[in-house]
Order: sequence, then structure tokens, then C-alpha cells
Amino acid sequence: MTVNDLNAIEVAALDKWYGTFHVLKNIDLTVATGERIVVCGPSGSGKSTLIRCINRLEEHQRGSISVNGIELGDSVKNLDAIRREVGMVFQHFNLFPHLTVKENCALPQILARGKRRRDAEEMAMHFLAKVRIPEQADKYPGQLSGGQQQRVAIARALCMTPKVMLFDEPTSALDPEMVKEVLDTMVTLAEEGMTMIVVTHEMGFARKVADRVVFMEAGEVIEVNEPNAFFDAPSHDSTRRFLATIM
Ligand code: ADP
Ligand code: MG
Repeated sequence: MTVNDLNAIEVAALDKWYGTFHVLKNIDLTVATGERIVVCGPSGSGKSTLIRCINRLEEHQRGSISVNGIELGDSVKNLDAIRREVGMVFQHFNLFPHLTVKENCALPQILARGKRRRDAEEMAMHFLAKVRIPEQADKYPGQLSGGQQQRVAIARALCMTPKVMLFDEPTSALDPEMVKEVLDTMVTLAEEGMTMIVVTHEMGFARKVADRVVFMEAGEVIEVNEPNAFFDAPSHDSTRRFLATIM
């Protein structure tokens, strides 16, 4: 098998508890290289927990997760390797407020990858141009709109040259007029072939970009389907009920 044949992400029989609370129940999810997955479901269904397990911001107790063939076990070496493969974008941007936009993008490369400053800044400017805000490079996050800050967060993640990008409700903290500029950035990324898991209730985005939509409820994957079938002919009552609340 060549590397290209590997699945980007394999989650198998995954269980996770927070204390005694069974938050993820026997989750199976395989994401092919280049595939775009949208995850949706009610608040509290475990969407964030699932993607946080994939880059080990949370630990799971049973089952297995691997990213590009690297199993996320107890080995710290594997953890470092997986974090190199996976970029993450959060609902609340999580930028460093005391660093400029350019420095937000450059510093992680210098600290975590040992990049030379000049190369790191060049990479930062490359991806800030890609998310169409190179002119904001010397400002501080607080001087930017929410949509611009989220695009910085995307650029910062891309600077680490991840093979997989995870997005956790990247537009849900934004004012409505800023949602599109962030989604457009993500559409471009998808069109370029990035493997993505996106937790979002933006159904227009899901229809346009997703190869498959995953519906979660109460810690379980209830339904997985390609977007048109998922939205137009959901198989499960709970999917139908959920869709009625968001459409
Ligand atoms: P979603 O992203 O789908 O809204 P989450 O993954 O954030 O759901 O949370 C799933 C469930 O786990 C919720 O009931 C939430 O209250 C609970 N939960 C999330 N994080 C923790 C935590 N650190 N400790 C205990 N319970 C948590
Ligand atoms: Mg969440």
C-alpha cells in the first residue's frame, strides 16, 4: 500500500467518558485523503469532543484513532507526529492578543518547528495572502473584525502545513455578514484538495463542499450520507427532527 492509499483518518469503535458520562459511544468514522466531512447534530451531542479526540486535545478510553496511518496511542512520539498532521480552527479563534497577526502565524512555526524567522514570516505572509488579508499583517487581533480574526486563525493553522484540517463551528461566533468570507476561505481550501472535518450547521456549505455529512446525537453517529440524500431524504427520525430545527 502506498501512502496515497491510506485513509487520512480512521476512528474505530471509539468510546469516551467524561467521568461517568459516556460522551462518545462506539464511533466509527473513516475519512479518505482529500475527503470533506461535515459533522452536525444538536448541542451537546459530542461533535467537539470527537474532533478534539482526533488531535488528542481530549483522551479517549476505548477504540482507536489513527491519522495518516499513525496510531494515536500512548506514545508521545506519535502524539507529536499527529499534531504535525492536523490543523485545528476553533469557534473563538484563539489568537494571541498581544502578538501581531503576522507574529501569530510565524511564532508557532519558530517554536514548534524550529523554523528560521525569515522563513516563518514568509510562510505567514503567503497564507495571509491566501486568506486575503495580507494588509492586516502588522495589526493586533483586537483591531480586526471577527471574520478577519477567523481567517488569521485559518492562516495560522495552514502555516504548519497540516495534511488534515479540523474546524469546530468556525462561523458560529461571527456576525452574519462575516460568515461568508470565512466560508469562502474554507471552500477554496476544500477545492484545493485539503482533507477536512468541519463541525458546522451551515447547510449551504455542507451541500456545496461536503462529500459526506455525519449526523450525531447523544454521543452516537446516527446517520452518514452524501449531502443531497442527507438533506432531502434523511433516513432517521432524529435527523429529520434536527434538520427541521435548523432549516
Ligand atoms: P457538541 O460539540 O456537540 O455541542 P460537546 O462535545 O462539546 O458537544 O459535549 C458533549 C457533552 O459532553 C455535553 O453534554 C457536554 O456538556 C459534555 N462535556 C463537554 N466537555 C466536557 C468536559 N470537559 N467535562 C465534562 N463534560 C463535558
Ligand atoms: Mg461543540
